[in-house]
Amino acid sequence: MKIVMPLRIFVAVILSVLTLGANALAAEKECFSKDKADEFANQFSFFGVDSYDRCDDNDRVIKIFKAFEFLQNVEGTLEMEGVFGQKLVKDNPFAYFQKRVKDIRLEDECDGVMTAAYVSPMFLGESMFTCPHMFKLSTVEIAALLVHEARHLDGDEYNHKACTNPRSGFTGEYACDETFSNVGSYGIQVAFFNKISKANVSPEIKRIGRLWATTFLVSRFNTLPGDLKLGAFLTDANNKVSFYNGKSLSDVLKMKKGNILVDNLELKMVVSKKTAEVTTYTNGLSEYQKKGEGGARDSEFLGGAERIATEGRFHCALYASSVNCYAPGFDDAVVSFKKNKPRGIFAYWLGNQYELIIVFQNKKMMKLPSTLEEIHASTEDDLEVIAENTDMVKMQNWIGERQSLNLWRSGQITFTDRINNKNEAILPGKTFIDIIAPVPWSKSLQAL
Ligand SMILES: [Zn+2]
Repeated sequence: MKIVMPLRIFVAVILSVLTLGANALAAEKECFSKDKADEFANQFSFFGVDSYDRCDDNDRVIKIFKAFEFLQNVEGTLEMEGVFGQKLVKDNPFAYFQKRVKDIRLEDECDGVMTAAYVSPMFLGESMFTCPHMFKLSTVEIAALLVHEARHLDGDEYNHKACTNPRSGFTGEYACDETFSNVGSYGIQVAFFNKISKANVSPEIKRIGRLWATTFLVSRFNTLPGDLKLGAFLTDANNKVSFYNGKSLSDVLKMKKGNILVDNLELKMVVSKKTAEVTTYTNGLSEYQKKGEGGARDSEFLGGAERIATEGRFHCALYASSVNCYAPGFDDAVVSFKKNKPRGIFAYWLGNQYELIIVFQNKKMMKLPSTLEEIHASTEDDLEVIAENTDMVKMQNWIGERQSLNLWRSGQITFTDRINNKNEAILPGKTFIDIIAPVPWSKSLQAL
């Protein structure tokens, strides 16, 4: 599986969780138990490493041992009940892994800096290969990855399929499973994270479990699992977010004043306008308090959007006087605005890629270039103006092809169908300040 972490905000969350864990361990000043280490060393062969240091938190073998121990402590099976039920796997997580993987091969280099681990069922079918990136993850994430990779060893039918949904963030890449119910690697990973979200672990770990379970459910399956349906998140002037399913509205959450809902395709987040800090992730409303950073900021945060295309993905944060785009391993690309005052930013899928569009107070709409390099080399004057005087403030893809939901300065939302030449106001009498679509959501996802 590829673990891709496109967002600084996101990476920061993972790091801050890691830091919490590290502090707790430092306080105890304990080495990893000798008995446990011996137990695991007897059960698995390790290649690519000669020895390990039980007292070194950064030792790769010890990180894997900690993940093993975590797996052992998760009680119960990898089955899931309810709307997102799956029943094929009756083992508990450690037994599941142990039945499939006999040796672990630590690689010093892998294809792609974001590849965390892989298996090769045809060749060395009882081996798991680990990559340097895996050891940047937290224990719970490494544990989940072990379970995910073990599933691939059950055969070719558990190879990933090309993602067909642009909202996955991986369109065309082999990073999705066809359905949740066939219980592939992501299906098992969801079940594992769901188990953790209800296990006897720290609240932080529970939240990580819930965040990843809901994130994978909405993003990694070509057919939406359970009762998930595509719709739109609409925010009203009181900061109340509702889900619109094409007919009616359901309550989702009430944001605190001064917060804004930001679209990161797989992950929705509530971000403070003042500090640009993430306060909540909203796929299933996992509550993360102030664990992120939204890039360099010199003024009010107005929104964020992610651009995904075959040549890479990056995220842009819009501020009152600049837009700041970033991706891991690249310098930030900043465009400052001196002539036009920004109002909002959105991503719009145009058949093969997302375009990032900025709307200005003076009713101009401009398109950002498609690569970080081009944005880096651009000034305000270089951006392509796609509308000179429009009252539209946001255009979002809707469920069908060539359909959109449009938010207007008046707060009204209209539905446009370019195939059937339809253009009509929806939700008469109601006004909104923001819209994000299409998003998969259901009450059972929220209740997960
Ligand atoms: Zn995989």
